[in-house]
Amino acid sequence: MKKYLLAPGPTQVSPEVLLAMAQPLLHHRAPEFVEVLKRVKEDLKWLFQTQNDVLIIASTGTGGMEGAVSNFLSPGDKALFVNGGKFGERWGKICKNYGVLTEEIKVEWGYVVKPEDVAQALKKDPSIKAVFTQASETSTGVAHPIREVTEVVRGYDDCLMIVDAISALGVFEVNTDAWGLDVVVSGAQKALALPPGLAFVSVSEKGWRQAEKAKSAKFYFDFKKEREALAKNQTAYTSAVSLIVGLEQSLKMMKEEGLENIFARRSRMATALREAMAGIGLASFPKESPSVSVTAISAPDGYDGQEIYKNLRLKYGITAAGGQDHLKGKVFRISNMGDLDTFDTIIAVAAIEMVLKGMGHPLKLGTGVGIAQEILLAK
Ligand SMILES: *Cc1c(COP(=O)(O)O)cnc(C)c1O
Repeated sequence: MKKYLLAPGPTQVSPEVLLAMAQPLLHHRAPEFVEVLKRVKEDLKWLFQTQNDVLIIASTGTGGMEGAVSNFLSPGDKALFVNGGKFGERWGKICKNYGVLTEEIKVEWGYVVKPEDVAQALKKDPSIKAVFTQASETSTGVAHPIREVTEVVRGYDDCLMIVDAISALGVFEVNTDAWGLDVVVSGAQKALALPPGLAFVSVSEKGWRQAEKAKSAKFYFDFKKEREALAKNQTAYTSAVSLIVGLEQSLKMMKEEGLENIFARRSRMATALREAMAGIGLASFPKESPSVSVTAISAPDGYDGQEIYKNLRLKYGITAAGGQDHLKGKVFRISNMGDLDTFDTIIAVAAIEMVLKGMGHPLKLGTGVGIAQEILLAK
């Protein structure tokens, strides 16, 4: 059975990237690899839309998140975090582990944070040193209005805007410098379509100033040390050589396509999937602002979302994802990240129709496929 990886991480990796990674291993201090890092360093700035360096860390995305807490805050500092899903919750857990006092904005799953709520929280407590949120909350499939939230945070000289863009950067617009994002975290195996094992972090000048004052304990995730190494086109410790070689290839292909074209293509595919689902009576789970990166679909009444996602894998070789926590059984999720194109969307829609039909749903096969085709039709 042919396999398709349509999970919201890890995502499908292109053959070009896999082949690049299969080359004989370079030594991480060899001149050839230093050249690779030099190119990757510039291309990451392009991707993040920033003039600041983007640190490259050998860990999954959560390591980047942990560093984004320990490098900018001290125990006893106050931080505000948006909790609208599994990953928002994680910001709170990391802060607590570092003795950071947290203020939480709880957002009902499927909704986005209201910038007014952030404004109110900061007004009430101007000593808050950082606001943590997701760009795309992968567990619920919503995209938070980070640009608007950042406008609020920018009014506070001692408060950083820290964004987990692990499932956003490279799929839809996250404009680091123009929007004034202080710390942006990304990771390899979601939007960047690489195997897991790298985190990327951009830091603004305001961020580096705050880093000078931060007293949290850290060793491996020491951003200042990584910044110094990056100035010499190196990483502080042994580089994840193969992954970085893969990243170079992935960034090269992204540059060839161009950010605008990538965003337009991904958006078209996400719309096609969502509209196709609506056409067969399946609602999108987000109540507002659905993310382009991942489509969370509510299982129809009387059908188990876990069964739908399991059947996709067992019957048709498609790995998608179910729901997490209280959404288990209620939703299933299809990724729009990774090495995917027009016909991967058609595959997803066709397979969902076939799985539902197999489970006894009375839909007419091809209905959703037709809708998706209309939207994806090359003009
Ligand atoms: C997957 C994900 C993470 C965690 O990344 P890991 O690479 O699993 O550590 C964090 N935030 C978001 C939004 C994610 O989608």
